Amino acid sequence: MRGNRAKKTSDAWKIVIISITSLLIIGAIVFTVKEKQELIKPSLKPPVEEQSNENNNSTEVPAETDVQEENEDKNDEKLNENQQEQQTEQKDEPKSIEYDESGYPVTHIEPVEPTYVKGILVANKQYPLPKTYNPGESPESKAALGKMLAGAKEAGFDLTAFSGFRSYEYQTTLYTNYVNRDGKKAADRYSARPGYSEHQTGLAYDIGEKGRENLWLTSEFGETTAGKWLHQHAHEYGFILRYPQGKENITGYMYESWHFRYVGLEIAKAVYEANTTLEEYLGLK
Ligand SMILES: [Zn+2]
Repeated sequence: MRGNRAKKTSDAWKIVIISITSLLIIGAIVFTVKEKQELIKPSLKPPVEEQSNENNNSTEVPAETDVQEENEDKNDEKLNENQQEQQTEQKDEPKSIEYDESGYPVTHIEPVEPTYVKGILVANKQYPLPKTYNPGESPESKAALGKMLAGAKEAGFDLTAFSGFRSYEYQTTLYTNYVNRDGKKAADRYSARPGYSEHQTGLAYDIGEKGRENLWLTSEFGETTAGKWLHQHAHEYGFILRYPQGKENITGYMYESWHFRYVGLEIAKAVYEANTTLEEYLGLK
């Protein structure tokens, strides 16, 4: 009898333990499933498309079609005639392009046409020129340069443009020679890759003082009285100092005290007076 009773008690305990264990197991399964569902839920949302420029090395660029619509039927002579042109609204989502440590797109996309923004031809690391774009020196900027050099002479400075229009092929030769001599990383610091040089526009000049050739292509030129005169008066002739000091992250190029770009009187004055860059003036940065 005793043994039987003990057996019954132990059976009862077994049932209780099995019941509790089962409940715990069921509870655990329900909890795990619920947790998994919650983990899955957020990933069902569409991925966030906006990317912060501060967090990566890429920049949002308006879709090519927007810019290309402004490109049609334009040339250097019409440089200043299109300023009032309405800006095309962005129809597509901005796309993200990755840039390398020298500021060039990781993958070069050969443009179909040169890029005009507000009637201004743009050539920078963001907007390269097509290989086939070969306009030669712009007659308009050539005439303006002549006036500027004459103005400098009147002020007592013998300035000269020692470099002007460069074809895509010539820039290729230059850049390749620099790479072979100093390596790609070093060459990228002082020479534009073919297609990315503003000299290919026929609207840019490297200017220096005659007799002081040792200061050509140096920042010291900007410290000379001749260089200072040029920095202060270029806009009166339609030119801007294209790569100013402290704007490297905007223009993509280090300070070039010698490089001037023709943009026409109105824009040159506006850029000079606002102490800004072409990129900022055109709303590209
Ligand atoms: Zn230059």
